[in-house]
Amino acid sequence: MSSLTGKTPPPPIAMNKNKTILLFLLAGLSAGCICGIVPAVRTVIAQEYLKTGMYVLIAEQVVQGLLPWMAAGAIVFIVCGLLVLACARVSRGVRSAVAIGYVGLLCAGVVSLGSYLPVVVTVRAMCFLIVFCGVLFVFRAESWLLRGRTIVVGIALLCLLVLLTATVWPTVTGMRNRQAGPSFVLIVIDCLRPDHLGCYGYTRDTSPTIDALAQVGWRYERAYAAAPWTKPSVASLFSALLPAEHGLVNPDQSAPDQVLLLAEVLRNAGYKNFFINGGNVFLKKEFNLHQGFHSYDYLPHSTRNASDLTKRFLARVATIGRDKFFAYIHYMDAHAPYTVNRHNTRYAAKILESYAPGKPATQLNDLREPDTASPELHQYFRDLYDGQICFVDESIRVLLQGLKFLGRLDNTVFIITSDHGEEFWDHGSAEHGHSLYNELLHVPLIIAGSSIGHQRIAEPVSLIDVMPTLLDLAAIPRDRLGLQAVSLVPGSNAFASNRVLFASGMMYGPEAFCLMSNENKLIYRSRGEQGKWRLRGPKLPAGNQLFDLIRDPGERHDRAATEGVPPVLEGQLKNYMRLAPRVIPPQPVHVSGEDMRRQLESLGYVQ
Ligand SMILES: [Zn+2]
Repeated sequence: MSSLTGKTPPPPIAMNKNKTILLFLLAGLSAGCICGIVPAVRTVIAQEYLKTGMYVLIAEQVVQGLLPWMAAGAIVFIVCGLLVLACARVSRGVRSAVAIGYVGLLCAGVVSLGSYLPVVVTVRAMCFLIVFCGVLFVFRAESWLLRGRTIVVGIALLCLLVLLTATVWPTVTGMRNRQAGPSFVLIVIDCLRPDHLGCYGYTRDTSPTIDALAQVGWRYERAYAAAPWTKPSVASLFSALLPAEHGLVNPDQSAPDQVLLLAEVLRNAGYKNFFINGGNVFLKKEFNLHQGFHSYDYLPHSTRNASDLTKRFLARVATIGRDKFFAYIHYMDAHAPYTVNRHNTRYAAKILESYAPGKPATQLNDLREPDTASPELHQYFRDLYDGQICFVDESIRVLLQGLKFLGRLDNTVFIITSDHGEEFWDHGSAEHGHSLYNELLHVPLIIAGSSIGHQRIAEPVSLIDVMPTLLDLAAIPRDRLGLQAVSLVPGSNAFASNRVLFASGMMYGPEAFCLMSNENKLIYRSRGEQGKWRLRGPKLPAGNQLFDLIRDPGERHDRAATEGVPPVLEGQLKNYMRLAPRVIPPQPVHVSGEDMRRQLESLGYVQ
């Protein structure tokens, strides 16, 4: 019949079993590579790793993007290849029926796995299976494959070459970097005020371990957080950007991918990074501040304490051999509600039943309104707070002993600080997130270890400077990163006499901004609520407030009304305020879920 119509039937294709399976395997690898390269490239572009020269991270993203897809492609295609061989002699109708049944079975299998897999992975896998099975069976793609085998082999080899290069290159670079640079332990003790530590002049012996580190390291007497609550402050600590620049100032915002974080830069330089969060909900993964960390541990504040965090940290370090590491540990024990521990009664003469540690009633947030707490209750909370500091200090002592036992103490630098302070009715209110006064912005900052020597630094510095400092200590070039913050290594240009520091990003009430020079502090608070959480407690003045930080460190006497604001300071603060709204808009995330709400309430954050 074909000769009558003038068409010549295609010659039968020889199907050697082994060669066919190998060809299907290579085709599967190619298909997987093509599928995987798209999300990998999208991630690299979104994170702007090319712009900042994070080449090892680019290679990592490529490998992470390709491997699962290539594995899936190989498995799906080999199974298809076997079925093609089995169906080689049957009619097209039977083949189509087998194909439909097969795709249906695979989809059912993936759907049944759906409860164990993230939705997005399930959907992708289903699309992958349907498309490739459909192409292979219904459209007889195996004949195209067998005819174009040279092209298929070529593409597959190219894909394998890409994968091999991306795998080997960071390993080689990592080996090169492994030799140099100290490890880092960045310890943030949430809500810690420097004036409650012995090394900052406190009369109680709350912090013997931290004091000992301050004795041998660099102690910054006037270090300031860039915001008065966790999320914007830690975002600044991690990014060297001010709150008006990174824009992460609302409870429901998540860090944009393109903001480059300290852990990403260190990871690119071969560090192994651990994030150990003692239960602060604003540092949960959905807020995207864990970028660059190899592991992330969330230990709920309600059931775990500083001792558990230290144990988890030591367990992590024990798994990495001699690799250098960067650990971020966020202790929550000095954050209300206070946990039950052996130091509860160290300063509090007796525990008040209605404000006992472990009970939600110890939330300071409930005592913001004027006249809700007596002077005795104020002192009771300070006593409990000091006991919590003792407990964290003890856990840091165990941490140092553990590192010594692991042989990792000598080449490790410790950075001890806080994300913000805590108000104990200094300006008539309690807790944090509501003002820019020093009880919330002044934080301890101690950098010690690895024989860096002792220095006491009296000039004002900001927590945004921690990132360039650590990069300098690790000898990682930072010229391409475009950091505005400066290194705090003594003798560097951080201590220029005309430097001004900024802070902003309120949790409660209207937005406020402040500028700090060596002598002056200018606070501007806008009017209105601007969609923030309701401010409880005494009403704070709108407009400008000006304080003399040298003669009036407690910020009692506002000079703005009597002396006016120097135009230079006002101009500098206005320039800072113009940075918000930001170039990179942070992404809102859904935080109204019941789980998140319960956790926010457990920490005393209520709308
Ligand atoms: Zn905090």
